[in-house]
Amino acid sequence: MPLRLGIFGGTFDPVHLGHLRAAEEALDILGLDEMLFVPVAVPPHKPGWKILSFQSRWRMLQLALAGNSRFRLSDLEQRMPGKSYTVHSLQHLSKENPGAELFFLVGCDAFFEMDTWYEFKEIFKLAGIVVLCRPECCENEVLQFVSKKVSELYRIEPGNREIRHPALRSVYSLRNTRMDISSTRVRELAAEGRSVRYLVPDNVWGYIAENGLYLKAVSRPYSERVRESDA
Ligand code: ATP
Ligand code: MG
Repeated sequence: MPLRLGIFGGTFDPVHLGHLRAAEEALDILGLDEMLFVPVAVPPHKPGWKILSFQSRWRMLQLALAGNSRFRLSDLEQRMPGKSYTVHSLQHLSKENPGAELFFLVGCDAFFEMDTWYEFKEIFKLAGIVVLCRPECCENEVLQFVSKKVSELYRIEPGNREIRHPALRSVYSLRNTRMDISSTRVRELAAEGRSVRYLVPDNVWGYIAENGLYLKAVSRPYSERVRESDA
């Protein structure tokens, strides 16, 4: 049986429970063997927004993925020069894993912008595309989107979640649990020195609090206030 390898790219600034649960459900529902988390080094899509260093985002991912033997972390995009383009990462991973079937996970917000990505049609040849539900988007429009933007030859069986194509890889609408958590929300709370506990794994929460990550200069760190209230 060929390796069924999930690939989850993202900024992960920071990784949160929405990411982890979606990855776990993709493994489970699609019968994948492993999930490779690939943090972006130089995002082509977020110009002007100052993201945390690769090292800090990497450290939080290491903490978050520990304890799940099917979750793996890749520094691929940091090793590749220039902007991080998904198509290049997938080409690299398919060479590195000959014979493996690749499944690329993407939240529905990002999915509906894929037609703006570099060489996006190539991505639909290289990997199955697994569209993750988020509270703000509608999975019913997935077929419409790929038919219009990628190829008119996509077909779906009634009641099925797999959208097939005669030459390209399938697109899957994952019926995952919708979790209304975003890194933006985590950063907003942390900026004000407020708790992000239960939005991120406990060890990531600890790392953010200890290092005062995302904190605006005026706010007092959450860790300080906890220490005071414990006293
Ligand atoms: P930001 O708010 O900074 O954009 P984010 O929460 O969207 O952060 P990203 O690192 O941008 O996180 O996301 C990486 C991938 O994970 C994207 O494809 C995104 O759509 C998906 N994703 C993020 N949060 C969720 C969630 N709660 N449920 C399902 N997919 C998610
Ligand atoms: Mg995002």
